[in-house]
Amino acid sequence: MVDIIKLDGKPVSLDSAAIAALRDKIRGGLILIGDPGYDAARRVWNGNIDRRPALIARCTGPGDVQHAVSFASSHGLLLSVRGGGHSAPGYGTNDGGMVIDLSPMKTINVDPVRRTARTEPGVLWREFDEATQAHGLVTTGGTVTNTGVIGLTLGGGLGWLMGKHGASVDNVISIDVVTADGQLRHASAAEHPDLFWGLLGGGGNFGVVTSMTFRVHPVGQIIGGLVLHPLDRAADMLKFYRGFCATLPDEAEAHAALLTSPDGVPVAAMLLGYNGPIEEGERVLAPARQWGQPLADMVGPMPYGARQAMLDAPNAEHGLHRYWRAAFTEQFTDGFIDMLVEAAGRFSSPMSSLLLFYVHGAITRVPAGATAFGARNTQWDFDVIGQWADGAESSQHIAWVREVWARLEPHLKGSVYVNHIAADDKPEKVRASYGENHARLRAIKAMYDPGNQFRVNSNVAPA
Ligand SMILES: Cc1cc2nc3c(=O)[nH]c(=O)nc-3n(C[C@H](O)[C@H](O)[C@H](O)COP(=O)(O)OP(=O)(O)OC[C@H]3O[C@@H](n4cnc5c(N)ncnc54)[C@H](O)[C@@H]3O)c2cc1C
Repeated sequence: MVDIIKLDGKPVSLDSAAIAALRDKIRGGLILIGDPGYDAARRVWNGNIDRRPALIARCTGPGDVQHAVSFASSHGLLLSVRGGGHSAPGYGTNDGGMVIDLSPMKTINVDPVRRTARTEPGVLWREFDEATQAHGLVTTGGTVTNTGVIGLTLGGGLGWLMGKHGASVDNVISIDVVTADGQLRHASAAEHPDLFWGLLGGGGNFGVVTSMTFRVHPVGQIIGGLVLHPLDRAADMLKFYRGFCATLPDEAEAHAALLTSPDGVPVAAMLLGYNGPIEEGERVLAPARQWGQPLADMVGPMPYGARQAMLDAPNAEHGLHRYWRAAFTEQFTDGFIDMLVEAAGRFSSPMSSLLLFYVHGAITRVPAGATAFGARNTQWDFDVIGQWADGAESSQHIAWVREVWARLEPHLKGSVYVNHIAADDKPEKVRASYGENHARLRAIKAMYDPGNQFRVNSNVAPA
């Protein structure tokens, strides 16, 4: 017998014969508490998430996924789906339920003639970029290289190429997905168009995606890098930065952060990028590099893959602890800037940061109703990020985030990028983050997952 938690939260025991039958079907293996490898298999990227699922189904293909979903549905099990394992609130795992672990599914097929790339759900951005860059191609991907390609895209997909090529979802051509009834469906603009629309920003609400096909674009050398200023110049730098963003063409990206330098000193940074001819990029980014007297200017030409890895330290480190809060904002005042600088002056951890991630260009020209990802305004995704290495210190770093957030939140919108929703954000904020698309998402959820089998996510309740 195996003790397990059902969808309604009730504990039950599953008989050994049912478990043995499932074990026979899952080619990638079924891992139970006490099995060798269980402890490594239950871990996710965020070390602050310490959960113990009863069953981990390691899936090697759509067939394994179908068996796992059918088993979870027929037994009414609490179910999590894990791709890259990077969900900060730990949606890729749970206590006492089943985890569908897609990490063994690593196939990537690039068609350089049609400029498409099909990926399976265990693929991380660094692996995807390596495969497509072999042909000089890429699509909009995340800014830390070990997030999951499909997990990130399901929420929308913000990255360095969004000004030029839109969000990750804007580049998806088709999707294979196992829905709650165990069926493998092919979704595109022509087939199951409602399901396709919902998957483009509706998070993991509609099933387990077993492959996605993207449009990919030629990208070679780019310009990228950070410009650092001392914290006592941060307020002026952020005021300059606010105006600089309004001048940017689609090819350019500019984000800003308050963080701690490798020497252990809080600093202000502009994170700059240009996806186009190098000389043109030098000209567009020059005002930001010439402003003030930087402590360091690390901006220069580099391969696309190097820019993608620029923020990996420390963010990609497996087991790092993270707690964060986020919201969108279309403007920020001098008073808001002062609050940021004050908060950075008392970072509780040198790995924590305050981030203004600028969303503009092609991503904002897609109508809000065209995909489930509807955050199409020119705006900043603002994040208060608490990160630390020692689990014994969690309460002090979480307290810093909460205290800073309590003062900043009234100055921000009540919506957030869906992939940045925190587990303790209120249900109203989840609804607001789906915006006007929420009602259609609920209707599609009722069609494909009426029992809300896929609920360990930024959840959309069936209509
Ligand atoms: C350090 C860090 C950096 C980040 N940077 C960016 C960034 O630059 N841009 C950006 O847009 N986002 C970014 N994110 C957010 C990121 O997009 C989300 O955390 C995303 O959910 C990660 O996907 P994953 O597959 O790695 O995570 P997982 O934990 O494996 O999955 C998260 C959730 O996504 C769903 N899911 C994943 N795969 C599937 C699948 N195949 N089928 C169905 N549902 C699935 C499930 O609901 C799952 O619980 C970042 C997050 C972190 C922690």
